[in-house]
Amino acid sequence: MTDLNSSIGNNSSLLKIPTIKYNKLFINGDFVDSLSGATFETIDPRTEEVIARISEGAKEDIDIAVKAAREAFDSSPWPRMSGEARGKIMMKFAELIDENIEELAALDAIDAGKLYYIAKVMEIPGAISILRYYAGAADKIHGEVLKSHGQFHAYTLMEPIGVVGHIIPWNAPSSIFFTKVAPSLAVGCTMVLKPAEQTPLSALFYAHLAKLAGIPNGVLNVVPGFGPTAGAAISSHMDIDAVSFTGSVEVGREIMQAAAKSNLKHVSLELGGKSPLIIFDDADVDKAADLALLGILANKGEVCCASSRVFVQEGIYDQVEKKLVEKAKAWIVGDPFDPKSQQGPQADRNQLEKILSYIEHGKREGATLLTGGRRLGSEGYYIEPTIFSNVKEDMLIATDEIFGPVMALMKFKTIEEAIKSANNTRYGLAAGIVTKDMDIANTVSRSIRAGIIWINCYLALGSDFPFGGYKMSGIGRDSGLEALHKYLQVKSVVTPIYNSPWL
Ligand code: NAD
Repeated sequence: MTDLNSSIGNNSSLLKIPTIKYNKLFINGDFVDSLSGATFETIDPRTEEVIARISEGAKEDIDIAVKAAREAFDSSPWPRMSGEARGKIMMKFAELIDENIEELAALDAIDAGKLYYIAKVMEIPGAISILRYYAGAADKIHGEVLKSHGQFHAYTLMEPIGVVGHIIPWNAPSSIFFTKVAPSLAVGCTMVLKPAEQTPLSALFYAHLAKLAGIPNGVLNVVPGFGPTAGAAISSHMDIDAVSFTGSVEVGREIMQAAAKSNLKHVSLELGGKSPLIIFDDADVDKAADLALLGILANKGEVCCASSRVFVQEGIYDQVEKKLVEKAKAWIVGDPFDPKSQQGPQADRNQLEKILSYIEHGKREGATLLTGGRRLGSEGYYIEPTIFSNVKEDMLIATDEIFGPVMALMKFKTIEEAIKSANNTRYGLAAGIVTKDMDIANTVSRSIRAGIIWINCYLALGSDFPFGGYKMSGIGRDSGLEALHKYLQVKSVVTPIYNSPWL
């Protein structure tokens, strides 16, 4: 772990700040000011300086965007064209992202504190893959023929659900944008997306590229703004047919309530987690420590499926603990544009303060702080990789989602104990198992109530892996063919068969 070094702060040789080209609402194919004329600041988490002022969408802007999306749904070619034609336009969209990848990666680095090279070689290429995956699916969406008691010919039609509202968070602005937008475009929906107020920049750039690719006006509208105003206007809107949300449990609950109180729109939620990684005695200590650190330090722990609870079997607990501390101390925290950096700044000041306050809780509750625990420097939102040992399952650092680089290390004796502890959470998004014994791996993977289980790997995500939560981690699945169903309605069409000699 570096202490604040020359790579953090105002070392101009490392700054590659792109000019901000798009800072207005994107509605019906045009960049426009908000009706009120209000704007808000988006802040660079490396320097705490203002990057740009962004038009601030509110209820009246969401109304206009929904109107545009409704008109596009009712009369534009998008829902009516063949899946193949939609797929071709989506492929073009993917190509344009590829051509602009460095600028987009830089936008996510300055807006969200993402490592530039990870954004460039992994996250945005991953987002492109998501778009291409659903472009390929667009002409494979079909219903079934049904044989109904022999007297009817019946079939199902899979139809786009209509106008969709997407509300997304700040931790993965590019990949979550496409996790939502790509399947809903593929099925022929039209949409209004609200990016998080912390990270509007890449979403607006994507809106521009969507237009260049040939997506008709009104199909994809992007309205930056705040949750209680623009976000709430989406979840309570009477003319939005489905809302797809990624974010916190608290806001997910408000969205469900707003949907229930308005037009009973379909709701899907991707919420947080407190995911366990279970390391068994037969694991390779070095590799297990690498996985545990990847699981909690990747994207500075701002990952909904981070391995924030690490359970280690008693036979190798001390060795794993030692290895983790050694590796965490060598972990490089620094400017996200510096290729040596392994961890950039937290996304915003709220997040910085929230994480530091959980660390203080952990100390007060009596967990042993093995390493880390402090803010790095006085400019930018950098935090040391932090590991607590001797954590009890009822401590706040073991129950709450911290969403930062803070690991809670716990010891277990038996497989039964590991399963019980892993499931001792209100969440159920992901889990990891490290063992060479496939019996153990298979038993544990079936016993854990979570939407994805990683065996001897962690954070392995693919466009085709359904992703979502059990319990309070959410409702519905993003990614994979499953996600198409969030944006589809099934219609049964029935016709009688008269006088058939074959009945
Ligand atoms: P958040 O829930 O506060 O905000 C997420 C989005 O919801 C933002 O766009 C915000 O403006 C909007 N919002 C806020 N209040 C709203 C309201 N009343 N009505 C409608 N929209 C509203 O979450 P956050 O702090 O931005 O993100 C971190 C949380 O998101 C963490 O808990 C994390 O686990 C979760 N998350 C989950 C996943 C997943 O896939 N399950 C992925 C990323 C983040």
